[in-house]
Amino acid sequence: MATHDKRYVIIGNGVAGTTAAETIRKNDPNGSIHLLTNEPYPLYNRVSLPRFLQGVIVEQKVMIRDFAWHEQRNINLVTETLAISVNTEERVVVTNTGQIYPYDALLIATGGWANTLNVDGAAGTKHIYNFVTLDDTKTIIERMQESKTALAYGGSFISYELCDGFAIRKLDTTWLMRGPYWLRSALDPEGGEVVDNIARKFGVEVIHGDEIESIISKNGVPAYAKTKRGREIPADMIGVGLGITLNTQFLANTPIEIRGGIVVNEFLETNIDGVYAAGDVAEFYDPTIGYHHTMGTWDNAMAHGRIVGTNMVGGHQAYLDVPTYTSPLFDVNIAVVGTAESNNPELEAVARREPGEKGNDNYRKLFLRDNRLVGVLMIGSPKGRKKLVELVKNQQVLATPEEREAVLTLK
Ligand SMILES: Cc1cc2nc3c(=O)[nH]c(=O)nc-3n(C[C@H](O)[C@H](O)[C@H](O)COP(=O)(O)OP(=O)(O)OC[C@H]3O[C@@H](n4cnc5c(N)ncnc54)[C@H](O)[C@@H]3O)c2cc1C
Repeated sequence: MATHDKRYVIIGNGVAGTTAAETIRKNDPNGSIHLLTNEPYPLYNRVSLPRFLQGVIVEQKVMIRDFAWHEQRNINLVTETLAISVNTEERVVVTNTGQIYPYDALLIATGGWANTLNVDGAAGTKHIYNFVTLDDTKTIIERMQESKTALAYGGSFISYELCDGFAIRKLDTTWLMRGPYWLRSALDPEGGEVVDNIARKFGVEVIHGDEIESIISKNGVPAYAKTKRGREIPADMIGVGLGITLNTQFLANTPIEIRGGIVVNEFLETNIDGVYAAGDVAEFYDPTIGYHHTMGTWDNAMAHGRIVGTNMVGGHQAYLDVPTYTSPLFDVNIAVVGTAESNNPELEAVARREPGEKGNDNYRKLFLRDNRLVGVLMIGSPKGRKKLVELVKNQQVLATPEEREAVLTLK
């Protein structure tokens, strides 16, 4: 029996970590909670960063929590402090400031760092940006105000958000990606073309199947990006969306099981007693599809936070949810419900493209596992999304072409 109040340590104050801290406090009024982050801010909304980038909202609208919120709940928010190692035998977390935090229950909710552009000429050249944090966003906005040309690089959601921000701020924008179309992990050539057409309507030049070979700079700022196929793309600034590397490196000397992410069961427990993981960094067992995976969405991270907070206090709740992701895509919307993985051999996909509003096409793709609907991707009209979420939640059986067609055209 512990003779002291329970000590909770949470590494990472994103939506997973902060929601977990809030849930713990609701269920345990006495335990100590230390919430560590290398960033200088309380929780802010990463999903709102693109709208801040575009100038649609101001910085205050991005913030979700303030320092007082943590004080009122006796949650010790420790900012600008990086956890550098964990000792699971002694049950302590060590930080770069030399502090040692003992824990009875530890949550790792560290998300990922953005991969940087690693080509000739990039190191030492200014104005090449990742787009993950509030500070990234502020720096990009500053540079956009003095730039005329911009290059968005990559085939991910982040590259598209950068491209959207540049184009809406009226920069001459090029969008370059290695793959044959955008979001190739979920789309197909048809869906890719729908997205290209939308981007082109906003004056963006879209280039596929090519990659940056080097950055040619003048006085330390980019002049143009040279591609492998010999193009020279003028760019006063370059935004990079080349995926993230999950933040697990500081656990390298621990017995905590790590694959792509930190491996946890449906209760978000790792293989080590008292250690949990949640949010983007967790490779969690998902009973709805029957295997482990990672998921980089806000709703998923928040739901993880609630479940793991409950379990760290002594509960035993399984994570059972259908995550959804919705985002504006220039002047339309993109929505992802459940598991939408084109490269997953266990899933079958059927898609439909048809004329939509404002001269754009609507595109819808269903993902099925053993004839059961496990995911949907929608570009364009969001009509029918709520019903589709229900169908994915129920893993509706769609065995015949007629049943599938009915769902592809559901309004
Ligand atoms: C620009 C952008 C737009 C997005 N848009 C959408 C959207 O439209 N819809 C959607 O569903 N999702 C979107 N996402 C993804 C969504 O924001 C993430 O899935 C979610 O924020 C993950 O939350 P998290 O708490 O797991 O991790 P994070 O939010 O990544 O938080 C982890 C925190 O831990 C800190 N940290 C890491 N390592 C350490 C350490 N060793 N010590 C201390 N602190 C550490 C990090 O700095 C960070 O503050 C977007 C993401 C970005 C960047």
